[in-house]
Amino acid sequence: MAAEPRGESFDAIVVGSGFGGSVAACRLAQAGRNVLLLERGQPYPPGAFPRTPRAVRDGAFWRPRDGRHGLWELWRFPGLGAVVSSGLGGGSLIYANVALRKDEATFVDDEHERWPLSYADLEPHYARVEAMQGAAPYPADREPYASTPKTNALLAAAEQVGLDAFRPNIAVSFAPDGSPPGTPLEPAPNVHGAPRYACRLCGECIVGCQYGAKNTLDYTYLSAAQAAGATIRCCCEASLIAPRDGGGWTLRYRQHLAAKAGHRAELLDPTDAPERAVAAPVVVLASGTLGSTRFLLANRPSLPRLSPRIGTGFSGNGDLLFFVRGADRYLEPSVGPTITATAKVSDRMSPSGREFFLQDAGAPAACEWLWQAAEAPADLWRLRRSLWRRLGGRLRGDRDTSIGGLASEALGTARESAAMLPLLGMGRDLPGGRMTLHGDDLQVSWDDRESHAFFDGMEATGRAMCRALGGRMWRPGGRLARLVTVHPLGGCPMGRNAHEGVVDSYGRVFGADGLYVADGSIMPGPVGANPSLTIAAVAERIAAEMVAA
Ligand SMILES: Cc1cc2nc3c(=O)[nH]c(=O)nc-3n(C[C@H](O)[C@H](O)[C@H](O)COP(=O)(O)OP(=O)(O)OC[C@H]3O[C@@H](n4cnc5c(N)ncnc54)[C@H](O)[C@@H]3O)c2cc1C
Ligand code: SF4
Repeated sequence: MAAEPRGESFDAIVVGSGFGGSVAACRLAQAGRNVLLLERGQPYPPGAFPRTPRAVRDGAFWRPRDGRHGLWELWRFPGLGAVVSSGLGGGSLIYANVALRKDEATFVDDEHERWPLSYADLEPHYARVEAMQGAAPYPADREPYASTPKTNALLAAAEQVGLDAFRPNIAVSFAPDGSPPGTPLEPAPNVHGAPRYACRLCGECIVGCQYGAKNTLDYTYLSAAQAAGATIRCCCEASLIAPRDGGGWTLRYRQHLAAKAGHRAELLDPTDAPERAVAAPVVVLASGTLGSTRFLLANRPSLPRLSPRIGTGFSGNGDLLFFVRGADRYLEPSVGPTITATAKVSDRMSPSGREFFLQDAGAPAACEWLWQAAEAPADLWRLRRSLWRRLGGRLRGDRDTSIGGLASEALGTARESAAMLPLLGMGRDLPGGRMTLHGDDLQVSWDDRESHAFFDGMEATGRAMCRALGGRMWRPGGRLARLVTVHPLGGCPMGRNAHEGVVDSYGRVFGADGLYVADGSIMPGPVGANPSLTIAAVAERIAAEMVAA
């Protein structure tokens, strides 16, 4: 292959700023390496997340070919949908903050998944990530954060059904004892140069925290990376990689120039060149499950020894969203951080023999208004009696002109919105999916029928939880509805050799010296629990090995 023209050089280039990329960039920079981090999306300082319908239409979605450079990338594959994020901090910007370790018993080596590392290999790295991310359970037992109704409800329902349940670690900053929600947090330098405020329980974690209360990666690993000297360039999307004569890699990226306006210069490429080339002996791909797999598939001509396992081992981490409706108590889904409690059904207790979790998936208050609309016809029908009474009063000469009571009556019992709660199930489905590239278009073939026993078991337990709350289970679209995953995993699975995987357990791509992958794509199977902590811990382990080498 002909040598690429030389551009800027770094010790290491990291592509993507999610849980894998932030950790790798931070630890390499702290070890004194000259690091460049490329992120295709924009920075999101506090207050920058779109909220109104117009702002969402114009600025929320990612599809550069239509001029859209927003936060959410939505995918619709046959039989499966997926949601991922685009922005400085990757999935942490819109995730629900849960930081759970993968169960020790699930690092299996069987016909479905071959994990080339164990819990013991990750244990010290889990602890490092938890410390960096400030992960701790929702402080339901102390002022000013009295327990949210949904937290209590999930824990009580799980107990009634006979499940283990607890408050998982979440990466959120809460006000210190005695200070009110929204208290300014202790100032600490961050990439946005912006003040942060303690959690206000607004339920908006999955649409971006306007107050900086979530400990997203831009405030943690990425700020530490920048402080250690890493160069961060947002709105820069890596497109091509090629080996250099004599070793190392040239990486080409395109700039989304239209998206750069209004952002801090130190988070952007200093030029206005639409395309750039940079070089380094080490490149760490951390573009997420869909991004890294797609990048390697697209660059196959430059990577002739890439493992034939590329694209395999895809799973949605068993994601299943459903709702409890008509509960016998108000659950106030929009009060509190998105997830505060989890029920856990271990491999041993699960009907399919495969572990799963059920969590309260709170939602912004705007969603409560949408759900309330379902109650409107019955409420308006009931309201007719009051309207008749009022009309009768008028005819009898009543001059009461205050209508606040009527307006409040129009909202009926508000049970449709306040006595309902989304519940998120996830766990160890079977990683039988395959990702391919058709022209520029990514495809995922994944068949939930392979995991029927798993999903049936999770759904039956979910139904029992809904009954325990005095309500009923509701799945929009029923069984015919497409599954939607927010936890896509696999595509570049780890393995002991190139027949088993695309990378080894230290993220090294087989057959491509100096090229690494460190993100969700290298999971050789579902994590079971929410996967970000495991992705970050694996990246810590990869970075530690790179620094030691
Ligand atoms: C609504 C929602 C809620 C979630 N809640 C939780 C939770 O509570 N707990 C949990 O553990 N997980 C949660 N997740 C999942 C979690 O966000 C992901 O598992 C995690 O972010 C994956 O990390 P990653 O490093 O693999 O990739 P990502 O975090 O997706 O990061 C990849 C980054 O690479 C960038 N990128 C892609 N291609 C390129 C390119 N070519 N050039 C430059 N940059 C590129 C992307 O823009 C992105 O920023 C949630 C996800 C969603 C969508
Ligand atoms: S509930 Fe979530 S979005 Fe709201 S302030 Fe707390 S962390 Fe931020």
